Amino acid sequence: MISNEKRSDRAAPERSGPERDAAAYARAKRRATFADIALSLAMPVVFIASNGSTGLRDIAEEVSSVDAIGILVYATVALVGMSLVGLGLDFYSGYVIEHRFGLSRASLRDWASDWLKSLALQLLFGIAAIELIYALITPLPDTWWLVAAAVFIGFFIVLVRLAPVLILPLFYKFERLEDGDLRDRLLALAERVNTRVQGVYIWKLGRKTSRSNAALMGWGATRRIVVADTMIESSTPEEIEVVLAHELGHQVNRDIPRMIAVQSVIIVAGFAVIHVVLKTLSDSFGFRGIDDFANLPLLLLVAVVAGLLLMPAINAYSRSRERAADLFALETTRWPDRFISAMERLGEQNLSEKDPHPVMEFIFHSHPSLGKRIEFAKRWAADAGESKP
Ligand SMILES: [Zn+2]
Repeated sequence: MISNEKRSDRAAPERSGPERDAAAYARAKRRATFADIALSLAMPVVFIASNGSTGLRDIAEEVSSVDAIGILVYATVALVGMSLVGLGLDFYSGYVIEHRFGLSRASLRDWASDWLKSLALQLLFGIAAIELIYALITPLPDTWWLVAAAVFIGFFIVLVRLAPVLILPLFYKFERLEDGDLRDRLLALAERVNTRVQGVYIWKLGRKTSRSNAALMGWGATRRIVVADTMIESSTPEEIEVVLAHELGHQVNRDIPRMIAVQSVIIVAGFAVIHVVLKTLSDSFGFRGIDDFANLPLLLLVAVVAGLLLMPAINAYSRSRERAADLFALETTRWPDRFISAMERLGEQNLSEKDPHPVMEFIFHSHPSLGKRIEFAKRWAADAGESKP
């Protein structure tokens, strides 16, 4: 840690070097986020207003009179087009800023390959979703949204469970952690809180980033503990144990089923709103009706706006679950001082803002700020009568 030597030339609260970088990093990322939001709103609006969407639909219908093929052509061109429009911003936010602040170690080639892989995944899932929606709208113009919501929820449940096992390995390598103190310690912790795991793996983040992380991934027979190589290099075994205790807290507190329940309500409500908007407005924008796939940008616009409006509520809920997992970690390990040093180390490595602007935290942050988490641990230690760190 950088020492907190006092300097008298400023009235403002003193900030150490890395924190000042954290504030600048947060500002840069925030600007990129705002630009990204503006772009997500502008693209569908321009696509509709320029008659680009109906024009593309006409071309797609000329290619094939079979609905599913027409939709495939339309969706592929629209999704690739949107990704290309966003490419510059993706590069700026994911490569330029990350390198400027020393967080990314990825080469341009690594970055480009990851971008293409995520584009492929977006096309795969995006086209499947669009095909499903319009295949349902035609025969079920009034109830399609309920069926679509049910399928999306089922898919979401599978994805939450399988993404860490199926999708993350496309971007990162995982290796089994060899026998040793750290492995024994983490397996013993999992056993102590009655969570069966299948092993401990090293998450090879270090080639691409200096960030640090640990998690519990997979389900049932595939559930495993993963610890980033960057964390193993920089943290003490006790600090890693307390971070994993937080992750196990999510498991013991059943936060994944809770999140699925919350998301399910949102998916049903979201589809209901999309249905009402498509039904009411499809005719007024020159679409041929609710089953005209040229109205896709209108559907996307409703989804983006709904997502933005709900973000503060979802994040508030997420922060409360994170707080509960922190409490679990403190109660399980009874190591408030190691919890605090682990938080500080994670904050330094990931360049997290210690005390972000409360409004920004309220809207955008899924985790309580570092400052609040450390404060929470100090209060817990005082209440529990532990020695203060
Ligand atoms: Zn957490």
